[in-house]
Amino acid sequence: MLGTMQDRPLTLTHFFERAERSFARKELVSGSATGVERTTYGEWAERTRRLGGVLDDLDISADGRVATFAWNTARHLELYFAAPCSGRVLHTLNIRLFPEQLTYIVNHAQDEVIFVDRSLLGLLAPLLPTFETVRHIVVMEDGGDVPDPTGIELLDHEELLAGASPVEFHVEDERRAASMCYTSGTTGNPKGVVYTHRSTYLHTLGVLGADAIGVGERDTVMPVVPMFHANAWGLAHAGVASGASLVLPGPRMTPPALAELIESERVTIAAGVPTIWMGVLPELEGRDTSALRMIPCGGSAVPKALSEAYREQLGLPILQAWGMTETSPVASVAITRSWMDDLDESVLADVRATQGPALLGVELRIAHQETGEELPWDGASRGELQAAGPWITASYHDDPRSPESFTEDGWLRTGDVAVITPDGYVQIVDRTKDVVKSGGEWISSVELENEIMAHPDVAEAAVIGVPHPKWSERPLACVVVREGASLAKDDVLGFLDGRVASWWLPDDVVFIDEVPKTSVGKFSKKDLRDRFGGHQLPTV
Ligand code: AMP
Repeated sequence: MLGTMQDRPLTLTHFFERAERSFARKELVSGSATGVERTTYGEWAERTRRLGGVLDDLDISADGRVATFAWNTARHLELYFAAPCSGRVLHTLNIRLFPEQLTYIVNHAQDEVIFVDRSLLGLLAPLLPTFETVRHIVVMEDGGDVPDPTGIELLDHEELLAGASPVEFHVEDERRAASMCYTSGTTGNPKGVVYTHRSTYLHTLGVLGADAIGVGERDTVMPVVPMFHANAWGLAHAGVASGASLVLPGPRMTPPALAELIESERVTIAAGVPTIWMGVLPELEGRDTSALRMIPCGGSAVPKALSEAYREQLGLPILQAWGMTETSPVASVAITRSWMDDLDESVLADVRATQGPALLGVELRIAHQETGEELPWDGASRGELQAAGPWITASYHDDPRSPESFTEDGWLRTGDVAVITPDGYVQIVDRTKDVVKSGGEWISSVELENEIMAHPDVAEAAVIGVPHPKWSERPLACVVVREGASLAKDDVLGFLDGRVASWWLPDDVVFIDEVPKTSVGKFSKKDLRDRFGGHQLPTV
């Protein structure tokens, strides 16, 4: 027997039309090179419909890829909806990718047009001759002063909009591609993930859930996480869907500028990667942060010390989330549950240092690395984390590397190593590639880093495995000392003594000026391995 319910497609046009009708007066604030610009969902919706007309005028194919090379702004948000709601596919380009990777993904995705912020034109211009399918470059003025490159025809975003007619949006099939993102992987070419209307719709509902990020109409949400990285964690869509005001920082990404926006715009939810929050904390000192109620953070492990520093200074610990480009991205959030209310703050800090339970709609499991056998949720068994659900990708776009990333029963192999507690709390131990394999046992580089970063004089720390004649690999700690402080190797090792198992103690400590970062602000272990892979460990 089938049910009697209407089978309406789950498409982004519903989010768009709802915001257009019901939230027209709500505000969208965008940072620019010169200050902030203000608009409303009403004006945004009107421009978004005309942008649909621009895509028609530019003769973009019915499912043509519409690329963006842009900061987080209301203009970028117009493209977030104009492309998919007119049947096209939004392709957000990561402005920090290496040039050859950008060339690869633009050609692989077969982008037809690129919308670029004026201030970013200098990064894109040298690559334009390498793009094989791009027919138009549209420049969005953001207060930047990068001059036009010579010999390339550029179109002006505002002129195109002024000359275009608004269009009706209609998407019949919820499985139609809505947007795509490429992974920021450090080895090989990036892999493309293509989101459908349905997956984005359901992921947004997931993010809106009270036990996830819980975004509501009363919120003012500031996604610091770029709109070119994994859909800004769904927060741009969540804003439109819920009618929450959005504060989009544009190029105003320095810690003082972000702290200023949090205070002046009375931001309630501000989301970004750990390195962002490390920089912003001192800038929040003395500011009015009373509106702030949640700081979602993920992309890499959130050091417990960082979360605790926020709790001490702002009374608000960081909310850790876990996900991947492949998982739309939000798959788990480290909420604390009702029965934990009476626990000590120190225990709660440990709970918040996990990646939390899976969101409603997502299934997670761990599997033995070699046999693939499913492992128990006992808080001790370590295995590869695997994910399934309606907003988890089932393959990579046109990529022969797809099969190795999925199990026979269709689950995504995340490449993360994790344990899961009996209550379903996931603790990421490491990336499979980053665990230090010492004498057949694993040392978690992430846990070691966390412990080292709890030292008050440590600004940042990353741990890599370096070859060892007896143990195969041993940990090397790469430490950045906080400005004005001084540290020696023995201070670091002495601090770790008793905090980690003795056989986990790094064999050596090197002091560096900065931990190299990937295009999305994560510690780049690959760069550290290139630099220190041949490091001579002291013989004891
Ligand atoms: P990306 O596709 O660039 O978002 O990278 C996804 C990867 O980032 C995951 O597979 C994890 O290795 C890592 N990651 C994301 N969130 C967390 C987190 N909260 N803790 C630890 N690692 C994380």
